[in-house]
Amino acid sequence: GSTIGILGGGQLGRMMANAGSAMGYRFVALDPTPDAPCGQVARQIVAAYDDRDAAKELAERADVITYEFENVDAGVAAMLMEQSYVPQGSELLYTTQHRLREKRAIEAAGVKVAPYAEVRSADELREAVSRFGLPCVLKTATGGYDGKGQWVIRGEAEVDEAFETLNRAGTELVVEQFIRFQKELSVIAARSPQGEIRTFPAAENIHVDNILHLSIVPARIDAELQREAERLAARIAEGLGAVGLIAVELFLTEDGELFVNELAPRPHNSGHYTMEACRTSQFEQHVRAVCGLPLGDTSLLTPVVMVNVLGEHVEPLLALVAEQDASAERLGVAPKIHLYGKHEAKPKRKMGHVNVLAENAEQALAWISETNIWRV
Ligand code: ATP
Ligand code: MG
Ligand code: MG
Repeated sequence: GSTIGILGGGQLGRMMANAGSAMGYRFVALDPTPDAPCGQVARQIVAAYDDRDAAKELAERADVITYEFENVDAGVAAMLMEQSYVPQGSELLYTTQHRLREKRAIEAAGVKVAPYAEVRSADELREAVSRFGLPCVLKTATGGYDGKGQWVIRGEAEVDEAFETLNRAGTELVVEQFIRFQKELSVIAARSPQGEIRTFPAAENIHVDNILHLSIVPARIDAELQREAERLAARIAEGLGAVGLIAVELFLTEDGELFVNELAPRPHNSGHYTMEACRTSQFEQHVRAVCGLPLGDTSLLTPVVMVNVLGEHVEPLLALVAEQDASAERLGVAPKIHLYGKHEAKPKRKMGHVNVLAENAEQALAWISETNIWRV
């Protein structure tokens, strides 16, 4: 069988390797943390992501190379492409590494994003803020995740401080109009090198402290909007010429309009529900796409709510699984627990997730609430 190399060895790589191993592929991951989540289920090269010798070793060992995060050094990506097969190419990385480039690519695909402006000075920021109205969201163009590198500007008086704080290292910035969304949604699309595209059912996402807390599927919106969200994601996958997965985060406004928030060219936390709830998981689909196989059926098998397990949730969750779960039995739900094998359960750190399979979202949400693990 062939070997798939993964740049990055976190939980996304681990779940990719688990899905792909079942299909007969071997995996090797490059990650600086010894015994990384993926390294526990695959071979691991322990080295920095931008270590040229390690990247060379990865290229030598792998027949196909993919990545599990988008901040891959452009030089490393170029080198890997020379020495191995990188079906996703470097263009997709280049685009999604930078919020401005990403927004322009989404617009070029004919899909709407929230009104935004490039910001090079406090004056430019002031001008944009007066055009969009308050609040506005100032974001670093590169490197942000879990809401890091963002500032919600609520008053004119914050403009200078917001600009100076985020621009500290000369980082490029983008400001967006604050969207008073009714819901946040996401759709994961897959595209093969042959151009086949399939989308997964839209998830309704609830964040707490800018970290994904719940994904509810089917999203509690009408069927036409669900289809529209999937169509937009397919159009983006096509427009960007993506290969592999592309996750599309969306805002649904009170008026029923859809705006794209951001993209991720990889498996996405809001797609973890697919592991038991769809005929094909996002991880299997990604492996299929990068290996040039026909894509799998993305049909939903059951309603599901995915809840993230952060550091502070691990202990009570382990206590719960050691007991007979009367609440699950009464509600008729099946909580499927996934832990990533991370060594330190720091607060707010993503340690795992639970896919709560149920007759409907209400029963899954009732179970989550009755466990008292997630106090939100
Ligand atoms: P992720 O961990 O998803 O990569 P991130 O740090 O890249 O997050 P965003 O997805 O851009 O950040 O924003 C995080 C959250 O902040 C969004 O899910 C949304 O709840 C809120 N948010 C971001 N931009 C806006 C906006 N323009 N209007 C309203 N809310 C926003
Ligand atoms: Mg992001
Ligand atoms: Mg996001």
